[in-house]
Amino acid sequence: MKTTISETLQVQRDFFATQSTKDIAFRREALLRLQKEIIAREDAICDAIYADFKKPHFETLATETQFVLAEIKLVLKKLISWARPKNVSSTWLNFPSTDKIYKEPYGTVLIIAPWNYPFQLALLPLVGAVAAGNTVVIKPSEVTPNTSKTIHSIIKAVFPREHVSVVEGGVEVSQALLKENWDYIFFTGSTKVGQIVYESAAKHLTPVTLELGGKNPCIVDESSSLELAAKRICWGKFLNAGQTCIAPDYILVHQSVKSAFVTALIKMIQEGYGGDIKNSSDYARTVGSSHFNNLKDMLVGEDVLFGGDTDPEDNYISPTLVNEPQLDSKLMQGEIFGPILPILSYESESDIHNIVQNYGKPLATYVFSNRKSFQNKIIQKYSYGGGAINDTVIQVANKRLPFGGVGGSGIGSYHGKTTFELFSHHKPIVHRANWLDVPFRYPPYSLPIKFAKKLKNLL
Ligand code: NAD
Repeated sequence: MKTTISETLQVQRDFFATQSTKDIAFRREALLRLQKEIIAREDAICDAIYADFKKPHFETLATETQFVLAEIKLVLKKLISWARPKNVSSTWLNFPSTDKIYKEPYGTVLIIAPWNYPFQLALLPLVGAVAAGNTVVIKPSEVTPNTSKTIHSIIKAVFPREHVSVVEGGVEVSQALLKENWDYIFFTGSTKVGQIVYESAAKHLTPVTLELGGKNPCIVDESSSLELAAKRICWGKFLNAGQTCIAPDYILVHQSVKSAFVTALIKMIQEGYGGDIKNSSDYARTVGSSHFNNLKDMLVGEDVLFGGDTDPEDNYISPTLVNEPQLDSKLMQGEIFGPILPILSYESESDIHNIVQNYGKPLATYVFSNRKSFQNKIIQKYSYGGGAINDTVIQVANKRLPFGGVGGSGIGSYHGKTTFELFSHHKPIVHRANWLDVPFRYPPYSLPIKFAKKLKNLL
């Protein structure tokens, strides 16, 4: 395995050295082939993800394939202008010069993907990495083997191995990949593994993007439009069976509206998935028995307000509402990453603070309120990756918004142009003209010190 990985990397390095990927037309052609292949295999991708965790086809189209196709479309439209060297103003001290920022590819990029959006989270960074002119090795998640195989077969059909290849496998394969000297590592996954990736990258001083998780609060105040809030929260929480890095993890609701809000949540779950949720074609499963068992354990001893139905044969957990869990309970210790929604009530803003501050900097925070001052207070007071006011999850849909965490929820951000920028080294070059050479900077220094003290005005 070791030799195969090293050999793949060497083949890609040799190819990168040929300068072929520096050609914008070459990159666009590769992305056009990828676009065509995804469109042709869209049903097969849906089937693979369904086989992995019964993700509804509609959800796969909306959050995986169409999401990636939209990114490719944007890149194809904008790549020429993004890749063009950008002129910036020169300084008096460099006069005469033309100063530019060149975008150059890093070289060979490693992308390690998780299982929860197994297609999108492997392919979206790929699109940007290829657009920026890198070669790429993708390690999809072993937890979703059908999708991993499909990704492998798509990439094989679209790219020569020296440009993009897939290495399938589990933790040991990931560890072997991380031993190599990459030019960039893009990792999406848990904070725990993110730390391992960061340590490995540090050995070679490899730049990284870490897209990690967190415990995302969702605050519902007494002024909020409760029915609409419940509808948007249920959608964001139970989409993908709660296995979304930016899903609301827990609710903080003002105690005066808690009862009405819980009633609205239950109504929305019933309207969305019907009376027989297990047989709803719109509801996914949790991934694998170990994740299922972990989630099931979180319910032990809790006050379940709604749901709580499980089936280990099918890794099924129904949309579940839990009433006021203790902060030291298993449910409130870390990221839940499943269809269980704890409801905690608060009386004052200091109650919110006391809870939110327990969990570091989350990937997302949501505020449901009709009071601008409260919305702004939360945005300004707390550090978190991103979020929405009066909605959940949809921040991810705008490609003009960078997507990523802060602190424990990640390093760096991507999507749209940001992905292209992320996979490009920004190389500043001063093009000096030779018709004038101001002598003052050369020794012996002839400028009086008092003049040197004014240099800041020329920089
Ligand atoms: P994970 O960290 O267990 O695995 C991610 C990848 O790392 C997999 O490809 C896996 O093979 C590899 N891996 C696992 N253990 C490893 C080790 N010891 N050394 C090296 N590589 C290893 O994450 P997961 O369970 O697949 O995904 C769920 C997590 O990902 C959640 O915490 C979620 O919040 C996070 N996530 C974040 C984002 C984001 O965009 N910020 C998106 C999706 C998921």
